[in-house]
Amino acid sequence: MAWMLRLLFAVLIIRLIWKFVAGMVAGAREGRPRGTKTGGVLVRDPVCGTYIEPSRAFSTHEGGTTHYFCSRECQQSFGKTT
Ligand SMILES: [Zn+2]
Repeated sequence: MAWMLRLLFAVLIIRLIWKFVAGMVAGAREGRPRGTKTGGVLVRDPVCGTYIEPSRAFSTHEGGTTHYFCSRECQQSFGKTT
């Protein structure tokens, strides 16, 4: 009867892998690399070059694009140069 347990185990493993792959595909479809404030995606501060999370960054909307800054100092100095 051991083969039955092995078969059951194999089916469980396959189902786990399938769920994992399906989740990755769904995540790749939903999570767009740019434009959204999803977690995990980092944006570059154009003033000092630091990479920050958009949700934590200071943002400035300008000409249809959004610029993200690590601090208010960087945000203000960016405004001065343009
Ligand atoms: Zn900065």
